[in-house]
Amino acid sequence: MRLCRFGNGRLGVISGDVLRDVTAALDALPSFRYPLPAGDVLTDHLGSLSPRISALARDAPALAVADVSLLSPIANPGKVIAAPVNYQKHLAEVRASAELHHHNQIAVIQTAGLFLKATSSLVGAGEGIALRKLDRRTDHEIELACVIGKRGSSISRDQALDHVAGYCIGLDITIRGPEERSLRKSVDTYTVLGPWLVTADEIPDPGALELRLSVNGDVRQHSSTADLILGVAELIEYASSFYTLFPGDVILTGTPEGVGPIHPGDTITACIDTIGTMHVAVRAADDER
Ligand code: MN
Repeated sequence: MRLCRFGNGRLGVISGDVLRDVTAALDALPSFRYPLPAGDVLTDHLGSLSPRISALARDAPALAVADVSLLSPIANPGKVIAAPVNYQKHLAEVRASAELHHHNQIAVIQTAGLFLKATSSLVGAGEGIALRKLDRRTDHEIELACVIGKRGSSISRDQALDHVAGYCIGLDITIRGPEERSLRKSVDTYTVLGPWLVTADEIPDPGALELRLSVNGDVRQHSSTADLILGVAELIEYASSFYTLFPGDVILTGTPEGVGPIHPGDTITACIDTIGTMHVAVRAADDER
C-alpha cells in the first residue's frame, strides 16, 4: 500500500497516478488527553486500520496525484535519526573536499555513530525547501528513509525488518560549515519526506534500490542502496542499542556521492526504485519570516 498525506491534513491511498481520499479512516484512531503517547499515532495503528483504508479506497472518488500538494507521509515522528557517512564513495568525497568537511574529522559511521534532526524540520514534497543563510553553501542529499512501525529496543539485525512500517524518499538538506550536524541539518523544511509511504510488504529487500537525484534536470546523484556501509537492518540494530525506537520514528540511511549545492528557484527531482519520484521546489526563506 502507498499512503500519502495531502492538502489540509488529508490521508490518501496512491494507485499509479490516482489518489483516493481515505481521510475518514482516521476517525477510527483513538483520541487522547495530554500527555500524548510516544510515537506517531497513525503509524502505530496502521496494521489495524489497513482493512478500513482499503475498503474506503474502493469507493472514494479518484483525484490526480499531480493536482494535490503532498505533506510528509509521517505527521508526528518522535525522532528523525540520520546516518552521517554511510556510503564509501560519499565518505571519500567529503574527506577530499575542504568545502564539505570544514576541517572536521570525518570518521567512518561505525565511529561517528548517528545524529538526530529536529522533527520541526520535516515537510512533504509539496511544501518545498526554504533556504536560509543564503551566503553559505547548502547541499542536497538523497537518502532511503525507513519508517519504524513497531516499538523496540536492542533489536537484533535478524529481527530488524519486522520493525519497519515502510519506506519513503528522504532529502537531508544540509548547510555546510563547522557547526554540529544536528544544527546545520535541522533548519525548517530541511528534512523532506515523500512522496508517500510504501509499506514494507512491497519492499522485501531495501538493500537493492536504485536512487537518483537531479537538480533542474542535471543528474547529481545516482547510486544504489546495495552500496550502503550499514544497511537498514544494521542501522536499526545500531540505533536501538542506544534508544527505543517508536512507531513513526524515521531513519535516514545516509547519502551516496554526488552531493552539491542548491539555490532558490531550483527544482530537485528525487527518485528511488519501487517508491516513486518527487519534485521539490527550492525558494529563499527570507521573505516569509
Ligand atoms: Mn545525510
